[in-house]
Amino acid sequence: MQRDGYSAEELFISSQGLAYNDFIILPGYIDFAPDDVNLESNLTRNITLKRPLVASPMDTVTESGMAIALALMGGIGIIHYNNTIEEQAAEVRRVKRFENGFINDPIVLSPDHLIRHVDEIKEKYGFSGIPITVDGKQGSRLVGIVTNRDVDFETDRGRKISEVMSTGLQTAKQGIHLKEANEILKKSKKGKLPIVDDNGNLVSLMCRNDLLKNREYPNASKNSRKQLMVGASLSTQDEAKDRLDELVSAGVDVVIIDSAQGNSIYEIDMIKYIKKKYPDLDVIGGNVVTEEQCERLIKAGADSLRIGMGPGSICTTQTTMAVGRPQATAVFRCARYSRKYNIPVIADGGIANIGHIAKSVAIGASMAMMGSMFAGTQEAPGDYFYEQGVRLKRYRGMASIEAMERGGSKRYFAEDSKIKVAQGVSGAVVDKGSMFDYVPYLIQGLKHSFQDMGVKDIKTLHEMLYNGEMRFEKRSMSAQIEGGVHDMYSYKEPKYM
Ligand code: GDP
Ligand code: 5GP
Repeated sequence: MQRDGYSAEELFISSQGLAYNDFIILPGYIDFAPDDVNLESNLTRNITLKRPLVASPMDTVTESGMAIALALMGGIGIIHYNNTIEEQAAEVRRVKRFENGFINDPIVLSPDHLIRHVDEIKEKYGFSGIPITVDGKQGSRLVGIVTNRDVDFETDRGRKISEVMSTGLQTAKQGIHLKEANEILKKSKKGKLPIVDDNGNLVSLMCRNDLLKNREYPNASKNSRKQLMVGASLSTQDEAKDRLDELVSAGVDVVIIDSAQGNSIYEIDMIKYIKKKYPDLDVIGGNVVTEEQCERLIKAGADSLRIGMGPGSICTTQTTMAVGRPQATAVFRCARYSRKYNIPVIADGGIANIGHIAKSVAIGASMAMMGSMFAGTQEAPGDYFYEQGVRLKRYRGMASIEAMERGGSKRYFAEDSKIKVAQGVSGAVVDKGSMFDYVPYLIQGLKHSFQDMGVKDIKTLHEMLYNGEMRFEKRSMSAQIEGGVHDMYSYKEPKYM
């Protein structure tokens, strides 16, 4: 019997490039629950993650806060390079040092500080539980702790901390597991638990008030040393070689060569250089959108490819440069080609909702990379501000004039140009709340999508994609309108889409 719908092969054979909204996936057969869906997938040839989500290397999206949150929930963040080498390496180190539930860089004072200094910290950071070490530095011998209760009724704010601090503390040894430390905190009824090494030097701090937050994250992306995984981006310029060394010594797990048109001699040389110097470090090449581009980068040694030229929400490349490709076609073509070499691809840009993530994976991507989706969360860099009563965060293209002035032009072979032609815009996105609420929502949505497709995992999905079992159909413009909310007088949009 002729199967209903079209295979991806049939869908994408056309002189017309397709975007995610131009097609739909036909439903499959359901004989399992959403919780049976396994979203494990490859970031690179050698790195597998539990969730197919990557935060884009952009200066309004991914620094350590974003990378930690996403890695805890099974994805990965790529630290941007619109900063100094030291700054980028420090962001990587922050992720690598992160231990769930433990504050690894607590604010510390010395016995010679004054109560007034505690007040200043309370004013600036909002907490007053401060470990005291001999010289006021973390990593030195712990001698006491100051909490609100030591200082709240003291009228003389000029008194030394040594006169008021609490000593004889309950501490725990470095290396203690989260569960045990939580138990000690619960039993001790104290607000803080300092963690010390064998010599009594302060290593980290735990707060009783965080007990409820100190959850286990069974899907966390971790390396063999149990550290969270993190990526970092590099340009194709010579400075990237110094960056690379610093990033490697900071413990980076994977690097992305962040170039808008990846099919260049500069990128090919850079991939070869990295693979020669650090053969065990996986390199993600890109960006590419055609099979010929993929071929060049795979031959140069790329362990994964990033697909997309122009679909990004902040992007003006296709308008200004007249070069690029509609994203769904680009993802399908590149994924199908790269699969022959066992190289996974990351669908990068243009993902605006859960359906787009599902579609990107259904047409061959192993991971979805997002900028705008994550930019408005608490964990993205930058502060919130209000415009006409709406709470917003800044989001800008790395090739916006603003970002290029800070160094983002490395991505566009434009660093030396006197006149910079923008390939992106700068603007704002709405507040999305915390990644810790948002990502679980995305994941649950994706699992439902897989259930509707009748597919339990990404590996099977890709097999069904290439053997023609997955069925698709093009959507006319009116079909797209029909598929959205319509003919309502008014309605309330869900918090997330
Ligand atoms: P405190 O009793 O006044 O110290 O405040 P709480 O324990 O109620 O809250 C402190 C919050 O700040 C907790 O959620 C901590 O995880 C967080 N925090 C982040 N950095 C630090 C730090 O360096 N020291 C302390 N004490 N808390 C921190
Ligand atoms: P979004 O998820 O917001 O749709 O797209 C994010 C992606 O857009 C990034 O991962 C990157 O590939 C791309 N991008 C970031 N900044 C710019 C820019 O200024 N111009 C262009 N053309 N693409 C950008």
